Order: sequence, then structure tokens, then C-alpha cells
Amino acid sequence: MDLASLLHQTFGFDSFRANQEAVCRAATEGRDVLLVMPTGAGKSLCYQLPAIARGGTALVISPLIALMDDQATKLSALGLRVGRIHSGLSRDDARQTCRDYLDGTLQFLFIAPERLRVPGFPEMLAKRKPALIAIDEAHCISAWGHDFRPDYRTLGDHLPNLRPAPVIALTATATPTVQLDIVAQLRLDNPSLFIHGFRRHNLAVEVVEMSKPRRNEFTIKLLADSANRPAIVYAPSRKAAEELASQLGGSAAAYHAGLDPATRERVQRHFLSGQLEVVVATIAFGMGIDKPNVRTVVHAALPGSVEQYYQEIGRAGRDGQPSRTILLHSFADRKMHEFFLERDYPQPSELTRVATVLTPDFQMPEILRQKLTMDVETFDIVVGKLVAQNAAALDIAGNVRSATTTNWRSGYESQLAFR
Ligand code: ADP
Ligand code: MG
Repeated sequence: MDLASLLHQTFGFDSFRANQEAVCRAATEGRDVLLVMPTGAGKSLCYQLPAIARGGTALVISPLIALMDDQATKLSALGLRVGRIHSGLSRDDARQTCRDYLDGTLQFLFIAPERLRVPGFPEMLAKRKPALIAIDEAHCISAWGHDFRPDYRTLGDHLPNLRPAPVIALTATATPTVQLDIVAQLRLDNPSLFIHGFRRHNLAVEVVEMSKPRRNEFTIKLLADSANRPAIVYAPSRKAAEELASQLGGSAAAYHAGLDPATRERVQRHFLSGQLEVVVATIAFGMGIDKPNVRTVVHAALPGSVEQYYQEIGRAGRDGQPSRTILLHSFADRKMHEFFLERDYPQPSELTRVATVLTPDFQMPEILRQKLTMDVETFDIVVGKLVAQNAAALDIAGNVRSATTTNWRSGYESQLAFR
């Protein structure tokens, strides 16, 4: 069956998006692939469809339990046979899943990278080789990236034993250095590279200078309007998250790493189902969460890096509908980041910012008629000063045209260049 029919029959979609079809063809033919595509663009399909087309079991490496559960639930709902092995499941379940894998009854097996450190586990996988291997959130493998996970490093050692399956590496944020690093670390074999633009046309980026004491009141007012919900608010600390969530009341909850796993799971589930309309979170929340209709992402403080910022605002508007992202900041935020940067990195004077240019002819989506308020000063704060690791090759909703920053630590120069 051709891929388009398989797409329709299995997923019920009428057509491929962007270059999903080309990616699916390469992977189905057994080629290694590096796919860089914005959040919400539909990366998962690019390993799921080839996996079904190739038959056998696809092994999917995923960094978060929430991500695995989200994908597994969706695939099961489509009638596909899915297994997961992670720390949130019982030992018996894990054993049964291994048996299913060895019997060849699974179409997808999701595992966390740290599983590969469990003695005997990689050997078990190698006994019955997967037909395709997908590495989700592949930027986690690179120390140059913003979410480095040392456990991803071991993948390079284990993959050769699981070959000849094609390896598909997927990520939404990878600078050219991170892309090279992914290819090298995973030892991809003459991979097909699919690198997309990062522009999210339906997101309005608003940046508002506001003193800290006023921000909760602003956010409460903003989210009182149902058109601005569902929403995610990123708070700078656990305490700040708790405080704002309680001020927001019933349809809001806090989410941070200090809560027990059951509470976190419940908050996430209720947010996905719509029972909760607002999550006030620390950076612990959100990687890969596919909630299509998030209308607003508020940053109640300046985030630590542009890549982090891009990932977080990327959770808005995955359904393609106009959505707002609002960054609240003041000089005090900047001071705090500078304090940490100066403590942890060389002096900012060593940062060579070759060029920062704002797009003069930028046009907001008509429907929002929001004034773009990101000025050179803020851009300087967000891009010029805070990019302690690689500057991401990202385009914040189209308002940034080009910038070159030098990585303070390595001296590596990375280019941000957009259409
Ligand atoms: P990401 O690139 O962030 O991993 P996902 O793979 O989670 O994005 O996909 C985002 C959403 O887009 C999902 O709800 C998915 O079902 C949907 N989607 C993906 N491809 C298509 C398509 N060809 N047609 C319609 N919807 C699609
Ligand atoms: Mg994804």
C-alpha cells in the first residue's frame, strides 16, 4: 500500500503536512533520518507511519514518561499494539512487555534511555531486532543543546547492536552544531537531513515590561477572559507557581518538580482533558505535551535561554489557531540572570554579538492586531545576553530576522538566519 493510503487508513488524515511524505519515504526505505521540525508540526507521524509501513516493531526512545504515555495512548486508540517500559510501571508489566516484544506482537515499544543501563536489557532488545528506531527529542543527546540528558549518550554505543534498522532522530530545536552532534553521537549512516523553518505563523509574541509585584494581577485579569484559555503560565519558582495558582482559583493548578508524581500526573491529565484550564508551572512542565488548543503562554519572568523560551512558547497554538505568548520582564529579571551568568560563565564583555536586527516589515496576524512590543532592548536581553549555550536557530514568531551570537564557553559562533 502506498504511504498516502496508509496515512488515511491508519491515522485518518487526508494529506501529509510540509515534507512529512518525503521523511516517511526515506525512513520506510531504510535510510537514517535527522528531522528538525517545529513543535506541533507533526514529527511523531514521521516515525510512526514508516514503522507501520515497514512492519515489525519500532523501538522509540523518549525522555519523559508523560511523553511516552501521551504517544502510547494515541497509538493504542488507533488500534495499534503498543508497549511501554518505564519506572512508573510495575516489574510484572515490564516483564510482560519484554515477552510481547520478543514474541513480535508489538508494533511500538517505548523506552526511556536510562533503561539501556539496566543489565541485560540492551541484550534482550538485540535478541529480536527492531524494524525501526526512533529517537524523540534527540537534542537531549547534545551537551550543546538545552536539555542535555547524559543517558542519551549511551545510545551511540547501543545502536550498532540493534541495527540494521534505520534510525530516525527527531527534534524541534537544534542549532547547526547540535545537528552535527546528533549525527555524530548516534553515528547516523549517511542520513537524510530534513531541516524545517522554525517560524510559527499563528503565534503572536508580546513582550511587556512590568515590575514583579504587578504580574500576578495582570495574569489573573488576562486569564479571566475565556478567549485566553486554556493557558500555561511559566513561573520562576515553585513558590511563585503555588502562589499564583491559588490566586487563580479552581480551574488552575500548579505543576513543579516538588510535587509528588501522582499529583503531577493528575494535573497533566486534567489539563489535557480540559478539566483544568490553567497550569502554573516551572520549567518542569511541558516537553512534548501535545495539547492542541493552548491559547496563551505567559512567562511571569524572563526565561533562562532563548531555546527554552522557544520551546515553551511553542506549546501555544498547536492547532494552528491564533495564540498569544506574553513575556513579562523587568530590569530585575535581567539582573538576576546576569548574576548567574557572570558567576557561571566568562564576563559578558567576551560576548561578541556581531549583529542583531529586528525585522522592520514584520506583520502581525491581522486577526490579533496585537502590537509587537519586542524592542531591541528586550531582544538584547533575550538573545544577546542570555544565550549561554548555543543560540538556537529559531525564529520567534517571525519577529527576528537575523542575529549572530558567540557561545561564551566555546567561542563557537552560531548563526540565526531566517526568511
Ligand atoms: P511534534 O512535531 O511536536 O512532535 P506531533 O507529532 O505531536 O508534533 O503532532 C502534532 C499534532 O499534529 C498531533 O495532534 C498530530 O495528530 C497532528 N498531525 C500530524 N500530522 C498530521 C497530518 N498530516 N494531518 C493532520 N494532523 C496531523
Ligand atoms: Mg514530539
